[in-house]
Amino acid sequence: MKSNATEEQVDAIVRSAREEGLEATAKTRFGEKVVEIPNGQMLDPVTLKAMPGVERTEQSIRRCVRVSRAAKAENSLVHVRDVTFGGKELVMIAGPCAVESPEQLLEAMHAVKAAGAHMLRGGAYKLRTSPYSFQGLGEPALKLLADARDRSGLPIVSEVVDEESVLLASMYVDMLQIGARNMQNYVLLKQAAHSGKPILLKRGVAATLEEFLNAAEYIYAEGNEQVVLCERGVRGFADYSRNTLDLNVVPAVKEYSHLPIITDPSHGTGMRSMVIPMARASIAAGADGVMVEMHPSPETALSDGYQSLHPEELEAMMVELARIAPVVGRILKRRG
Ligand code: PEP
Ligand code: MN
Repeated sequence: MKSNATEEQVDAIVRSAREEGLEATAKTRFGEKVVEIPNGQMLDPVTLKAMPGVERTEQSIRRCVRVSRAAKAENSLVHVRDVTFGGKELVMIAGPCAVESPEQLLEAMHAVKAAGAHMLRGGAYKLRTSPYSFQGLGEPALKLLADARDRSGLPIVSEVVDEESVLLASMYVDMLQIGARNMQNYVLLKQAAHSGKPILLKRGVAATLEEFLNAAEYIYAEGNEQVVLCERGVRGFADYSRNTLDLNVVPAVKEYSHLPIITDPSHGTGMRSMVIPMARASIAAGADGVMVEMHPSPETALSDGYQSLHPEELEAMMVELARIAPVVGRILKRRG
């Protein structure tokens, strides 16, 4: 507000925000009269600025509405069958980068089950850097995933890449993953949201926090509030890893949003030897869970074998993370 704005002018702003159903508070900030309106971007800044006594309007740098902490103070819980993200219990997702064969997936499923992890992952549609690399089995892979769920009880997450895969995956799996390459494919975000399935939204390799949260906002805006964020590494200058797992974003998301966030140290490092250390760090940083790639025989994997854990490494990781969890007020329960 202008320094000479009257009390009536301040009240008028507060009242007009409340008429829109928004909570507005008049306060003094560094000696300036301000009116703070959480979710104020729902108001027209031009109209607001034209009101008597207003000097300027400023938007919070995060600009998201429904997914922001301002909109909801308590942490959101996201349910995928009997698994809950965002509560005290950590969620561990493991499985191969891609579904390769019935045998490979069943072996992976047994290993995930034996390690006590909570969900099984496996790609049916793979977005590969080279068009000549293995592109995924498509619908047959989704059928294998559904079969693995029926045998093991493990909820399934798998990536969708277009409208057709959203429709198909919705029939077979429990959670749809939006990959890093598609984080800003807003058409796909809307289609995935309309499936009504919970969404695992991976961060783009160069996405700012604002872009990341607003991608989730797209899903919320379509009426789907079951969104889990996933930090999977960003592009930096490091030449000793595939990506740089940005753990700073975990507490940042916790500050600005009520959504759960997990990390993917497999893609975040691209190196098997770095996966467990960064999984430990993720839990210590406050992540709600971890997703890792694990292959029954990483040496023969059709994709991402070099960053996939061996089954026994997954077991070891579970034991280590279960010891770290209580230190940060969390629990890691093995799935029975
Ligand atoms: C994946 O999880 O298999 C994957 C392709 O991840 P991202 O989209 O993060 O690269
Ligand atoms: Mn992969």
